[in-house]
Amino acid sequence: MSVDESSDECTYCGSDVTRHDPVYVAEDAADGGRVDVGQFCNYACLVQYVEEEGLTEGACCTVDLG
Ligand SMILES: [Zn+2]
Repeated sequence: MSVDESSDECTYCGSDVTRHDPVYVAEDAADGGRVDVGQFCNYACLVQYVEEEGLTEGACCTVDLG
C-alpha cells in the first residue's frame, strides 16, 4: 500500500492531516530508501489504524525462549 503524495488525507479517517499534528509512517524499501505507507492526524489515528489492521499481530520483536 502506498500513499498519494499529493493527498493530505489521513490514512485512517480521511481528514486533512495538515490541520492537525500529523504523523508520517515510512518503511524501508527494497532499494534502501524509504516508502511512505501512511499519514495520520496524530498518534491517536495511527494507533487506531494499527489496531484495526492488526499490524502488530505476531510482529513483536521479543524473543520467545520458552
Ligand atoms: Zn485521522
